[in-house]
Amino acid sequence: MDLIYYPNPLLRKKNRDLTPDDGNLPEKIRQMFEIMYRNKGVGLAAPQVGWNVRLFIANPEGGGAEREKVFVNPRIVSSSGSVSEAEGCLSFPGLYITVNRGLEVDVEYRDADFKTHRETFNGFMARIVQHEYDHLEGILMIHRISQAEKVRNKRLLDELEERYAS
Ligand SMILES: [Zn+2]
Repeated sequence: MDLIYYPNPLLRKKNRDLTPDDGNLPEKIRQMFEIMYRNKGVGLAAPQVGWNVRLFIANPEGGGAEREKVFVNPRIVSSSGSVSEAEGCLSFPGLYITVNRGLEVDVEYRDADFKTHRETFNGFMARIVQHEYDHLEGILMIHRISQAEKVRNKRLLDELEERYAS
């Protein structure tokens, strides 16, 4: 399991729901946290490690087990407010763009034991949840970028495309 980068097509593939029969879930989640921390991320979606299932992890502190969250088969039930802030993505090293997101989101999800939760997130955590949820829908930062920002970041995006092609 390793981090994959834009424009790897696995980032755009359909992601299936997880079931309790999916083997090795705790071990795979542990590996994902290690990859996320090693790359100094605060969120990581399964398709970003080439695993096309509806799962993402988050830790707004970027470390420390007590703030770790696992979202299995999540669904954003509602979203309210809106805020524009810069964000990055481990699959787009070096890219930071301003993205408009909901201020508060209500999410239904399962944890690693398949227990159902419904929880409201706001602030930074709401931003992480919406960014990672996008990954499960095959939506990337490149799809949230304005034309002006696309032009401004053209060299970086070209470089990522060339690196993937070679
Ligand atoms: Zn991302």
